[in-house]
Amino acid sequence: MRRKIIAGNWKMNGDGELVRRIAERAADAASGAELAVCPPFPLLAAAATQLPSGVRLGAQDVSEYEAGAYTGEVSGAMLREAGCRYAIVGHSERRTLYSEDNARVAGKYVAAQRAGLTPILCIGESLAERDAERTEAVVAEQLGAVFEAAGDRAFAEGVVAYEPVWAIGTGRTATPEQAQAVHAFVRQRVAERDTDSAEALPILYGGSMKADNAAELLAQPDVDGGLIGGASLDPEAFLAIHRAA
Ligand code: PEP
Repeated sequence: MRRKIIAGNWKMNGDGELVRRIAERAADAASGAELAVCPPFPLLAAAATQLPSGVRLGAQDVSEYEAGAYTGEVSGAMLREAGCRYAIVGHSERRTLYSEDNARVAGKYVAAQRAGLTPILCIGESLAERDAERTEAVVAEQLGAVFEAAGDRAFAEGVVAYEPVWAIGTGRTATPEQAQAVHAFVRQRVAERDTDSAEALPILYGGSMKADNAAELLAQPDVDGGLIGGASLDPEAFLAIHRAA
């Protein structure tokens, strides 16, 4: 049985008050799927002290470098020390707004693993790529860069989040069938390299997942949880998604 994970990506939102509210509500979420919260860097310390011990902490990004003259960057070791278990890498906003290409994302993936973090690799196609029937090719390329950097067992300690770019923050969700098809494809690509890691790999869906559409997405056999943006800022909605898992 694969573990189910519901992870919240706050993006550049939230404050100490939101940490306090989530921490209060998350106390009810000790059972069921794993719950994780990825607030902005300055809120990690408050989250680490306030969240109930079963709730995992994640960062929204990590440097591909270990240390040195990289102003503004945060290393995996720093995130571990801050109490993180996860680091998101390759979110589509990083790829598009900050020009992170597959090679850079793969470098971050490896750096996270080396620091003892579990990377959450975001992959997914744009609307134009879906319309051009390039979804599988895009996703295969994104996975391929990680295999190139980390080897055949790259996903033995990792998480994948399939996030179609056209569904992120748009209110337009992939249908359960669309999500399942891509998740099954991802698992098959990983299995071609290493069957054990494919079987154990949590593959999360992300893109306008909400309390009212979570259950049917999460019922798909290869959908092992969700990476939640907007709805993770509302403790009620976030915990309702967690209950659906
Ligand atoms: C995300 O940014 O990872 C995401 C899934 O956002 P939203 O849930 O708001 O679409």
